[in-house]
Amino acid sequence: MVNDQKMYDLIGIGVGPFNLSLAALLDGVPEVEGIFFEQREKFDWHPGMLIEGTKMQVPFLADLVTMADPTNPYSFLNYITEHNRMYHFYFLQRLEIPRREYNDYCQWAVNKLPSCQFGKRVVDVKHVREKDPYFEVEVLEVASGKKEKYRGKNLVIGSGSHPAMPMSFQGLPNEDVFHTAEFLDHQERCRSAKSITVVGSGQSAAEVFRELLKEQPDFGYRLDWLTRSSGFLSMEDTKLNLEHFSPDYVNYFYSLPEEEKEQIFSSQDLLYKGISAHTITDIYNLLYEYSVGAQPLNVGLQVLTEVHDIVKKAGGEGYELKCEQWQQEKPFTHESDVVIVGTGYRPFVPDFIHHLDDIIKWDENDQYKVRPDYRLYKKEDIPNEIYVHSAISKSHGVGSTNLGLAVHRNKVIINHLAKKEVYPLSNHNVFQNFGIPQSEADESTGNE
Ligand SMILES: Cc1cc2nc3c(=O)[nH]c(=O)nc-3n(C[C@H](O)[C@H](O)[C@H](O)COP(=O)(O)OP(=O)(O)OC[C@H]3O[C@@H](n4cnc5c(N)ncnc54)[C@H](O)[C@@H]3O)c2cc1C
Repeated sequence: MVNDQKMYDLIGIGVGPFNLSLAALLDGVPEVEGIFFEQREKFDWHPGMLIEGTKMQVPFLADLVTMADPTNPYSFLNYITEHNRMYHFYFLQRLEIPRREYNDYCQWAVNKLPSCQFGKRVVDVKHVREKDPYFEVEVLEVASGKKEKYRGKNLVIGSGSHPAMPMSFQGLPNEDVFHTAEFLDHQERCRSAKSITVVGSGQSAAEVFRELLKEQPDFGYRLDWLTRSSGFLSMEDTKLNLEHFSPDYVNYFYSLPEEEKEQIFSSQDLLYKGISAHTITDIYNLLYEYSVGAQPLNVGLQVLTEVHDIVKKAGGEGYELKCEQWQQEKPFTHESDVVIVGTGYRPFVPDFIHHLDDIIKWDENDQYKVRPDYRLYKKEDIPNEIYVHSAISKSHGVGSTNLGLAVHRNKVIINHLAKKEVYPLSNHNVFQNFGIPQSEADESTGNE
């Protein structure tokens, strides 16, 4: 057991883009010293979905730092400069960069940040009540199995999300039935299959379907796409609606009554779910191309369909999907060799966080209770904070998993840690008003 006597101001759990942005923004803030642990051997952003041709769903400005400080050395433009690719990017004339490039950019930043330590899994945390209380964080060096202990005044949880796999799809051979998050790991299996079915209609499901459709002529498999939704609906990403991914909307949503938030959040599906228009266009154009000539399409797109269960075919290869077209209430069975599950992700709260239940306040659904500035509510007034990046959609709204707003969140967290405004925050960032400005509300009540 190796003990590090240093007292860090902040210990970070997980190094995905959210905590990596925090580490990069902290690099220029001498008042706050942080250390961040990541269990993976290296930074790799959703590796199973780094499909060639896929691009970011946000402009390159939503890099690790630019929305906080465009002059910060960890900016995407500085990465481009250091790689002598400014003219390449200049003539690309596109705001959205390839997903693979975003991953490479983050890896470039990681290599400059010794505060980010990889191959180290946080396995336990406890609050040590001394004159100056602190958190003791136990870290497992994944490769060696060695354990180390670190001390920190505050924690930030950036443990991200996990693929959400419905019960009915669990427990089946992973090489045949797997989540989109593992697509590239199983692409060879797909190429050797006679039939493949994609279930779900989010961006990941659409990207996987497009990739399989592109390769279908080379491998000849039957390809189907099933969704419970009423259609393969496009994401609502027109400019005024994108303003929901702004600090203004986060503050407005946070101010709403708790009991209304859940209903409002579930009515905003198409702001963050759905498929990007260009992905739908690519798919349609391919289908149109393949429909030229007499050859019938070896592709099926079925909406309004719930997959209730999936069983291995008796004595043979492949699976039977017990489905129902829920509008007609018509059950049917669909067969497939491979089933790719595109049912999204669920926030991941590590079990050991519950070792802090004596200080953390949870809500009635065992969810985090989060303050506007991303600190968890505590049962008692201790000088140690726990900031959270994930599982905050219910409190802070649709933008919680958005890369651009992660930088805003980090500005708020750093200003709170440094007890001064290191990164200026502005209230009016967008054209539309969500709430009624206080001043106008007062006037109207006055007139009556
Ligand atoms: C395929 C895909 C594409 C996306 N594209 C976009 C996009 O273009 N634009 C956008 O705004 N958003 C996008 N998102 C949404 C969101 O930005 C990402 O999910 C983003 O990765 C969230 O960052 P994170 O740091 O919270 O979590 P993650 O990237 O999930 O990272 C969390 C990290 O924590 C580590 N970890 C967990 N527990 C521990 C532990 N106990 N000890 C040490 N490490 C631990 C995990 O290994 C993981 O690396 C996308 C999501 C997906 C799945």
